[in-house]
Amino acid sequence: MADTLFTNVRILDGSGAVQPYSGSVLVSGNRIRQVGRSTAAIAPGNATVIDGAGATLMPGMTEAHTHFSWNDAATLAAIQTMPLEEHVLWCAKTAGRYLQAGFTSCLGAACAKPRLDVVTRNAIDSGQIPGPRYLAASQEISVPGALGDETLPHLPFPEFSFGVNVTGAEHMRQVVRMFLKYGVDSIKLNLSGDNFVPHAPADTTWMTDAEVAVAAEEVKMRGKRILVHARSCASVKQALRHGIDLIYHASFSDEEMLDMMEARRDRVFVALFRSPGIAILYAMLHEAEPWGITRAQATQMGYQIEWDAAIETLSKMHKRGIRVLPGGDYGFAFTPHCQNARDLEFFVKYLGHPLGHVVRRPDHDAPARTGAGEGRLSRRPVAGGRRPAGQPGHPARPQAHPGGDEGRAVCQGAAAGGAAAMGARGMSTARSHRRCSLPLGGTARSAQGAT
Ligand SMILES: [Zn+2]
Repeated sequence: MADTLFTNVRILDGSGAVQPYSGSVLVSGNRIRQVGRSTAAIAPGNATVIDGAGATLMPGMTEAHTHFSWNDAATLAAIQTMPLEEHVLWCAKTAGRYLQAGFTSCLGAACAKPRLDVVTRNAIDSGQIPGPRYLAASQEISVPGALGDETLPHLPFPEFSFGVNVTGAEHMRQVVRMFLKYGVDSIKLNLSGDNFVPHAPADTTWMTDAEVAVAAEEVKMRGKRILVHARSCASVKQALRHGIDLIYHASFSDEEMLDMMEARRDRVFVALFRSPGIAILYAMLHEAEPWGITRAQATQMGYQIEWDAAIETLSKMHKRGIRVLPGGDYGFAFTPHCQNARDLEFFVKYLGHPLGHVVRRPDHDAPARTGAGEGRLSRRPVAGGRRPAGQPGHPARPQAHPGGDEGRAVCQGAAAGGAAAMGARGMSTARSHRRCSLPLGGTARSAQGAT
């Protein structure tokens, strides 16, 4: 079993402590064998030695809302119409960048063509391409007129649509079964609208209970997941009524919705997960002008109202102990890929999460859902780590990164004591190209290291 010794690193162990300590880490196969609190603490023996040059070594991070196939474009149409061949290559390259950026687990949240996520996941799993452990999603499933329906009256062809449009319960069953046949891990439903599309704003709700119920029935039968795009309050309640436990956005709330969420958290420890995706709201308001969207226009589109509502909802959720994961909607021109760790900064700055909570957060909450242990970088057995169905094991694959703007080395699959979500584990030494404004002082680049 090959050994790798990381020396001269500052260890941020994911325990919640915000100050890293200097040391060395010995990895044997896909297990951490030893953690030393000084650089000279571990004899290298036959191990391959990687000099971390003082960089921070931390558990691999988890991105709960990933779209490898979003191609950093400014419109849904520009994402959708990328030719298939280029699109496959884009996804492969993007997967590798996430790993280099320190993300060792990603949960696919929808892709732009039916099999892009499945093919990317399979290529990662077979070792064809580098990438994080990945759960493959379907395309967005929507209904005519809602978010994801990009067809035009004179061009009613599914190939021109960002999502797959269904009408009625049996049509939903047919589409869900098609994606399950393709081998997805998750089915994505667009329950609410989105201010990104003028015809279906964020506070509107679109799918019937009959359609959602059929999707839930089919997915449950196959032991897979449903993910929902649910910004409106009614759409979140709809998801909860149907037992859907991975909710994206949930910007708008009322007391009844928060009570429903809290009750669900108490009943099952399989906790309720939601990934707010607030970076896209922030970017649309403050950083979209180069693409023609001024602050005034963004406000008119409803982004200020949604930002205010989302901050209020998320703060209330935090107080009620409802679990929230970082992640969301990177892959647009305004929120390009590999800025993802910016979410950690947002959690501290706008949502009032303690810093210590945030630096352990990417790995802390998610394992609860799968029964894995906490996300710490330590020497201990990882029997508690559990893979989701269909996720084959990975050997540890340390990958030196030849400079550039992302992590220096990422060890995919190295066990960090149950370090990451969705049953995946990993660790990274990371270097940031986007400076963090968290009050971490000398450790700043670790918290934001995944960017
Ligand atoms: Zn998304």
